[in-house]
Amino acid sequence: MPERVGFVGLGAIGTPMARHVARAFATVVWNRTAVRAKQFAEAHGAQAATDLEDLVADCTVVITCLPTSREVAEVIAAASGAWRRGQLLIDATSGDPAGSRRNAATLAGYGADFVDAPVSGGTSGAERGTLTVMLGGSDEAVERARRYVQPYARTVEHVGPVGAGHALKAVNNALLALNIVAAGEGLAALVKLGVPAQRAVDVINASSGRSNVTEHLIPERVITRAWPRTFSAALLDKDLGVALAVLEDAGVTSELYPAVKRFYAEARKALDAGADHVEVVQRIEAAAGVEIR
Ligand code: NDP
Repeated sequence: MPERVGFVGLGAIGTPMARHVARAFATVVWNRTAVRAKQFAEAHGAQAATDLEDLVADCTVVITCLPTSREVAEVIAAASGAWRRGQLLIDATSGDPAGSRRNAATLAGYGADFVDAPVSGGTSGAERGTLTVMLGGSDEAVERARRYVQPYARTVEHVGPVGAGHALKAVNNALLALNIVAAGEGLAALVKLGVPAQRAVDVINASSGRSNVTEHLIPERVITRAWPRTFSAALLDKDLGVALAVLEDAGVTSELYPAVKRFYAEARKALDAGADHVEVVQRIEAAAGVEIR
């Protein structure tokens, strides 16, 4: 029987990742809203599993891309009769290190391996197959995981034991959130002082304050007023919670992370459920009485 790879979670980023996987391997997909799995299977020559136990029974390697480690634990439990020795779960969720260690321990009970493998690069990076993948796990499991994440990745790094990938991803996303708020507040002030937003970011991008936020998110989403919905504010708020726990566990005191976490938690309550992570800038604009353009 040819090797089959399972992919669980066809959301905003899971779908383009799964497309690359389906081009490289015989792929079986499962999604909570089953119609998405059916449509994906028809469009990309994959198979749609009707239940998780069937998917896990059919596949030696399973990739998950779900909101949090909690849903990953639910998926592991839902297929409890099918996990067996020699299987590998590659968790592309932006999960949390403690949850990953628990999920790894559950799988170890069945003789299966776990690697945390969160991604960075957004839905556009997933479409292009240029994501960065942060792998946490044993040397052996990580080496095995590489060929399954390669179809959607440009950079694949083994960063430490189980949970290290999720810790690094949380810190990365906290930096993203910090940069969004800092750029939004600074640019609101500059625009009020008469500096056009595009000119301001052009100068910042030729200077030491540049970041992905000033190079891409502000010019492509805020100044254009396009506000595409690719990565929800709710998910970034979740990542900030994970980052706070990572710092706390490490015994590192922070001034900035709790402040940005509070900002996102408040913004999330005020925005609608599907709001994108960049839409928090609209709150900064409203409070300042200015549009960043
Ligand atoms: P979405 O909200 O678009 O998709 C979530 C996926 O999880 C859907 O397939 C959804 O199924 C499924 N799901 C939700 N709850 C459950 C549950 N209880 N049981 C089973 N399946 C469930 O999220 P994204 O695709 O944007 O994000 C997925 C992960 O990737 C998150 O951890 C996120 O932080 C991370 N990430 C996202 C990026 C992005 O740009 N979007 C960038 C980098 C990382 P259903 O279709 O039924 O709703």
